[in-house]
Amino acid sequence: MGHLLKPLHERMKGRVTLFCPASITGVDFGDMERQAEVQISHEGKRVVLQGSLLIGADGTNSQIRRMAGIRTKGWDYNRFGLVLSASCEHGHDSVAYECFRESGPLAFLPMADGRFSIVWALAPTEAMRLSTMPKPLFMKKLQKAAGSDVIDRTGSITGIGKRFCFPLELTIAERYAGPRLALVGNAAHTLHPVAGQGMNLGLRDVAVLAEVLSAELAFSDPGAPILMQAYAEKRRLDVMAVSGFTESLTSLFGISLPGAKKVRSHALEMMQKTVSVRTLLLRQAAGIGQVESMKMPGELAGKNSGKRAKKRVGNRAERGAA
Ligand SMILES: Cc1cc2nc3c(=O)[nH]c(=O)nc-3n(C[C@H](O)[C@H](O)[C@H](O)COP(=O)(O)OP(=O)(O)OC[C@H]3O[C@@H](n4cnc5c(N)ncnc54)[C@H](O)[C@@H]3O)c2cc1C
Repeated sequence: MGHLLKPLHERMKGRVTLFCPASITGVDFGDMERQAEVQISHEGKRVVLQGSLLIGADGTNSQIRRMAGIRTKGWDYNRFGLVLSASCEHGHDSVAYECFRESGPLAFLPMADGRFSIVWALAPTEAMRLSTMPKPLFMKKLQKAAGSDVIDRTGSITGIGKRFCFPLELTIAERYAGPRLALVGNAAHTLHPVAGQGMNLGLRDVAVLAEVLSAELAFSDPGAPILMQAYAEKRRLDVMAVSGFTESLTSLFGISLPGAKKVRSHALEMMQKTVSVRTLLLRQAAGIGQVESMKMPGELAGKNSGKRAKKRVGNRAERGAA
């Protein structure tokens, strides 16, 4: 996360006043006539911030969402995600591996420094047991769970980083916005990490909000209810499609009925052979289709031609495939 936050903080220097760390002590969401007001506690002092628009980007258990009285729908998967970094003998060659195991998926995701980011979905007690067991024993268990298909390509696991556990849940806010309020990222939707879509979805929230805020009306009142409604409507379909796609993966690979494994293998083989289906799924997983249908803030300001916009989407595709 530090890799993301450091350059962001650099760009914000001199333009944005940062109150960090801070805790929220009260919120008044305002109305058509009144601005929103947030009271925070920062370095032992009470600070009152006012503005036309409040953006709730405070994660799955969003305090802003709760204070706005926005309810959520979803469920607990009764699984934890055990997350760590790992180095392998032969590196990753920019290839990601997803292994579907009885407890849940085990993903090996390539990182820029040559290591893998490992996400392993496990029953809570198993996650706790594995997260505290001695390193050499854990590495053996991880290698065994990955299976020879993966390890033959990556080589043995040579080292691992610190292990973290996260509860896995599906939480979708009933509304993504309200008067003078927009929810983005996990505050609006938290998905199972099986398809690696949570961050992408949050970034698209931000892109769409920027699109909405570049409308003429936003210059006089960025938190106008009609703009917030437009933002919420524009996000609904994407969130529904991606959460549906993610859920279908968790259900498909969660079935343990006799013969299910054979049917799944056959279905995956067919998908691999059918180029149109494979391309569709890859585009969905990389978020390319959704990005193409979006206007980027630069284009809205009339800075980019259609040609440049297409090139940018192309670059995203290359990164997504890597
Ligand atoms: C195990 C696991 C693996 C994942 N793998 C992938 C993947 O491969 N690809 C992908 O796209 N996504 C993945 N995700 C999802 C991704 O991590 C999230 O979607 C993303 O981090 C959400 O970003 P966010 O900024 O909305 O929320 P968060 O990352 O939760 O950030 C919220 C921030 O708000 C701060 N905050 C919260 N409450 C307050 C408060 N009251 N006052 C002040 N600050 C507050 C928190 O400290 C935090 O910094 C994974 C998630 C998990 C759990």
